[in-house]
Amino acid sequence: MSAVAQITVSPERIAELTSLIRSSGDETRTTVSPLDGADVATIPVSTEQDVVDAFAAARVAQTHWARTPLRRRKKALLRLHDLILRHQDELLDLIQLESGKARAHAFDEVLHTALTGRYYGRTLGRILGPHRRGGVYPVLTSIRQYHQPKGVVGLITPWNYPLSMALVDGLAAVAAGNAVVHKPDSQSPLTALAIIELMHRAGFPPDLWQVVSGAGSVIGTAIIDRADYICFTGSTATGKKIAARCSERLIGCSLELGGKNPMIVLPGADVDRAVEGRISAAFSSAGQLCVSIERVYVHESLYERYRDALAARLERLSYGANADWEVEMGTLVSPSQLATVEKHVADALDHGATLVAGGHARPDIAPWFHEPTVLENVPESALCHAEETFGPLISLYPYRSVGEAVEQANRTSYGLNASIWGPVRRARRIAPRIQAGTVNINEGFAATFGSIGAPMGGMKESGTGRRQGAEGLLRFTESQSVGVQRLIPVAGPSFLSKRAFGRLLTVGLVLLRRFTPKA
Ligand code: NAD
Repeated sequence: MSAVAQITVSPERIAELTSLIRSSGDETRTTVSPLDGADVATIPVSTEQDVVDAFAAARVAQTHWARTPLRRRKKALLRLHDLILRHQDELLDLIQLESGKARAHAFDEVLHTALTGRYYGRTLGRILGPHRRGGVYPVLTSIRQYHQPKGVVGLITPWNYPLSMALVDGLAAVAAGNAVVHKPDSQSPLTALAIIELMHRAGFPPDLWQVVSGAGSVIGTAIIDRADYICFTGSTATGKKIAARCSERLIGCSLELGGKNPMIVLPGADVDRAVEGRISAAFSSAGQLCVSIERVYVHESLYERYRDALAARLERLSYGANADWEVEMGTLVSPSQLATVEKHVADALDHGATLVAGGHARPDIAPWFHEPTVLENVPESALCHAEETFGPLISLYPYRSVGEAVEQANRTSYGLNASIWGPVRRARRIAPRIQAGTVNINEGFAATFGSIGAPMGGMKESGTGRRQGAEGLLRFTESQSVGVQRLIPVAGPSFLSKRAFGRLLTVGLVLLRRFTPKA
């Protein structure tokens, strides 16, 4: 039995899913599975007119949806949580088929998405308000802050986490009362389409979430030119182009971009635990994960023990391109991903780096599979010293002092995620010194990534804005303050002169300053 035989999605089902793409032209594109290089689906390519139509339908749906009581929106989110868990087998098959990742890593996406539905389903009212705010005159002025939806959000997502990256942002957008026009990456549209069906069953209106497909430079641009807000996940290079285009229209955007994430292993760290943590931190989705660790700084007192334990553990790592839950690493997604990893390894070796483990492509496992690879003695001139590899490649560096480790960790244009292993109190004191949107202590990335109440996003060139938590929802809203004034106008009553009113206000302010309880 071939490895892929265990992952079955019938051609009829694939045709059913692709029919959900808004497309009117004849152009199509064939997608290929990284599991075995075989064709997966013929995907219709949308035209610019399809994008126009998608926005028109989404705007109508959004107008009704924004007036839907919050309790109905919450119910739909919680129902979606249940449906995702119930229908996880098909979602896992589709994710694996399109991305080639291990089944356990595909399950991370199911989990992340279900947790997002539950989080916003439970907290929506609390986050959206309305919230009372202090008025200019106590009692006489009352203020309520509302959060109005932006309208139609353009959602542009990558291939590496096709379910998770669409839903963790998209669900927050619809929860806030928006509609979505979504362009998944051309490699992975099926996963995104399967979720739309579940959303309809959960109670979200049919036209609220539109899917279009096609090249980013064409269809992505057509979305940016019509959206009220853009939510983008992808590379820093594309993120910069998107930010420029959004600024021309003066629309907001959140950008979740690349990373070159560091891990620091402190003196006193449990080496075996740190090595085990390293496996999931670096090789989830074969390292094709924005928060994946690619640089490890190990205190010199532990360095050799850590390096040897990591190499020994990688010898025992189980690879595969199939539906086995125990597989610890799947394949890279495409020939170009494999080419980048091979280029980074060869370039580092040319510049004097040494191989600790791995180092080779393994077409016997899957066409674009590359062994998990560890390098040491990587000089600054090597590409993989500072550039994101986005694959299963890590570099080890010994350090003498924590100050040196922090300085090295921060010596990058990125600032997405970081990880510290060792005594918790010490690690907590170091965390604020690291320039990264998330810092995980004794974990690679999953502690913050899986905690939906905690905002996640990048500093520096890793992006702007935050997903997850209240911030992840409020970015899709416009804040609106509504004030009510009672008895006298703010400028003072007509029976008092301006001067007398000024004096009265001065006394009032002095008293308020003295007697208002401290916040
Ligand atoms: P990419 O930037 O090439 O593509 C991402 C998406 O943008 C795709 O849907 C693509 O079609 C679209 N696109 C491309 N050019 C566009 C344009 N000019 N206008 C509008 N849309 C355009 O990224 P990729 O290579 O597919 O994804 C990998 C990158 O994504 C890595 O750098 C990774 O770190 C990053 N990433 C970041 C996060 C995060 O949360 N920070 C999560 C996942 C991936």
